[in-house]
Amino acid sequence: MTIVHPDYPAWAGSPAYRDESSISDFIVHHSDGSPDQTPLEIDHEHRAEGWCGIGYTWVIGKDGTVYQGRPVGMVPSAAYGRNEQSVDVCLLGDFQPGTAGYVGAPTVAQVQSLKELSVYAHQKIPTLERIIGHRDVATLFYPSDPGDYATACPGDALEALLAEVRAYTAAQLA
Ligand SMILES: [Zn+2]
Repeated sequence: MTIVHPDYPAWAGSPAYRDESSISDFIVHHSDGSPDQTPLEIDHEHRAEGWCGIGYTWVIGKDGTVYQGRPVGMVPSAAYGRNEQSVDVCLLGDFQPGTAGYVGAPTVAQVQSLKELSVYAHQKIPTLERIIGHRDVATLFYPSDPGDYATACPGDALEALLAEVRAYTAAQLA
């Protein structure tokens, strides 16, 4: 698995680190933006939010390139309510039908890279227990008060592919 390390500026502020054995969730996101965005542009946007830098652990471009975001040992800013327990991958594009930026399903290259990254992550982080979409955080962990955690992310068209990612990962790890 080749992971490209963009030349991000130094982390701003005081990034939070964690014990990697606390990580249980592999959470999938869409960028809800142009598939032509770069990880450096996302890093810039997230700093403008007041974060220390890009919030995701990894980003997958439309050509399937996998980019490192935050290191695994650094707490992500990606899935409110599960950041301490998650690693987070963002596929560039908007995969939610009905929105202005909707691009359809992720590219074949993106989906293949997501599958390979999932296998890589499960090998690197043996405490991972589940592969979920960002939207699943609300229903799985906050069923009595999903409102604060509700999101369309990663979009219907990507969420629909997660069963395939789970099956591929399980087969490769077996
Ligand atoms: Zn998300």
